[in-house]
Amino acid sequence: MAGLFIGFLIPHALLSAYFHLQFHSTLKKSGKLSLSAIAESQKNTIDLFLQERVVNLFNLFHSREFTLEPDSQNMENYLGNLRQTNDAFVDVGFLNDRGVQTGYAGPFPALLGKDYSNEVWFKTLMGQSEDYLISDIYLGFRNKPHFTIAIRQSIDGRRYVMRSTLDPDKFYMFLRSISHGKDVDSTLVNRKGYFQVVDPGKGNLLALSDVTPESDSGAGVMEIDRNGEPILTAYTWLKETPWALLVSQPLSVAHADMYRARQVLIASLVVIILSIGAIIYYTTRKLMVRAQATAEKGLTLQHQLIHASKLAAIGELSTGIAHEINNPLAIIIATTGVIKDLLNPDFHLDASPEAIGKELAIIDSAAFRAKRITHQLLDLGRKSQPAMVQSDVHAILDDVLGGLKEREFQKKNIEIIRNYDPDVPAILIDPDAMRQVFLNLLNNAGDAIEGPGTITVTSGLADGFVRVTVKDSGEGIEPEYMKRIFDPFFTTKDVGKGTGLGLSVSRNIVELMGGRIDALSVKGAGSSFTVSLPARVSGDN
Ligand code: ADP
Repeated sequence: MAGLFIGFLIPHALLSAYFHLQFHSTLKKSGKLSLSAIAESQKNTIDLFLQERVVNLFNLFHSREFTLEPDSQNMENYLGNLRQTNDAFVDVGFLNDRGVQTGYAGPFPALLGKDYSNEVWFKTLMGQSEDYLISDIYLGFRNKPHFTIAIRQSIDGRRYVMRSTLDPDKFYMFLRSISHGKDVDSTLVNRKGYFQVVDPGKGNLLALSDVTPESDSGAGVMEIDRNGEPILTAYTWLKETPWALLVSQPLSVAHADMYRARQVLIASLVVIILSIGAIIYYTTRKLMVRAQATAEKGLTLQHQLIHASKLAAIGELSTGIAHEINNPLAIIIATTGVIKDLLNPDFHLDASPEAIGKELAIIDSAAFRAKRITHQLLDLGRKSQPAMVQSDVHAILDDVLGGLKEREFQKKNIEIIRNYDPDVPAILIDPDAMRQVFLNLLNNAGDAIEGPGTITVTSGLADGFVRVTVKDSGEGIEPEYMKRIFDPFFTTKDVGKGTGLGLSVSRNIVELMGGRIDALSVKGAGSSFTVSLPARVSGDN
């Protein structure tokens, strides 16, 4: 079950991990892309805002009402015009060709008459080809952060400047108004990384920002750490002025979709694993219960088979018994008939005691034969100690061969070769049981031979054992069966022909007498079974 579960889990986990990684990187990319898109759209809006402010001032400078010597009323009108377009305009000033502010309107009247010729923005505007400039945020004469939009105009070879300052707070409000996206925070920094526009809660104007984007790369996204919190920051440079717009969003918000997707994925993974685990568990249990039932059934079947084999064995045995007993009985019946005929005076036969005695001897022999068979049967069934008698092994072999067997083998064209060693002594064995053993071996040998063949019965004495080998020229035994041939009920013979008991019973018998049976066989070249019996004679211990 564990194997099944692991087998399911590993590919599933690998697949989930793979999809998770793919999904993770896609969502991460999409988080960056969406922040970049926000930054790009804000940048365009800011650029547009600044362009509009430049145009406002430009239009004023080039309007018909414009005069090279504006009085304060003129200037107030200009400022009114500008503030009508946007309230970020704080003041307006006109600078003559020497850089002196000769006209001014706004909240810092002290600026009238100020010489701007040494101011950075003024020098830059005079030195560049472009006729307008948007300055960085600076403190200037008024000592208050502001930035300036200035327009240059040449009239009759002299260069005049119209300038207006813008309120960074208003600019910030404008930036706020165009910011969208959850927890998105937008700021503007100059080339050196100083805040130009910033949320007062996030930083101070003109303070150094913790992010300074590279000024030569147009736009990008980076991950920064702000007080231990990872922040995703997209940056892009404005077109109108060298300020970078920084749009930041906490990573947890930018990747919220990813985190949610991960949670859903993990939850579904857990649910899938649990349900598949449960299915595997219940299915395996069901299968195990079924397998157990089948095994029990199999066991019953095996018992039934053994029982059937036993019945078959008994059946075959009974047929054999009937046959073996019928013969002497038939002889007895026939011989009694002969005696009756001898004693019938009508037949005038020789009823002398000698003649009758001869017939009685036949009856006697047949009766003994029947008695011996029943003994044999009893021996087979009995598990008791064998009745050991000093016996001649050759005589027992001849007895078995000489009876039914020889005739049967002749019919099958099987030649019996006796290869007896005359030095084999009479030994202590149970002769009837041994008869049974030899009969089994000879039966098997005969069954193994198809068509003409030979069975060689060899005896010998070696190492204190009398050995009798029954060798046949039959079909031999499959090597994989060699280990099983002595097992009770192992048979390769057709149903009704073999019971698989012969060798197991024979081995039992021989072992009870202190001996053993060994088998040798070459498939296709015959088999030989050797019975080794201790060469004990009566009087031995
Ligand atoms: P059975 O003769 O009823 O099958 P046995 O126990 O006597 O039972 O023999 C078991 C099996 O051993 C036989 O079915 C047969 O396959 C194999 N066997 C025994 N003797 C021989 C032999 N002489 N030649 C080939 N196979 C044999």
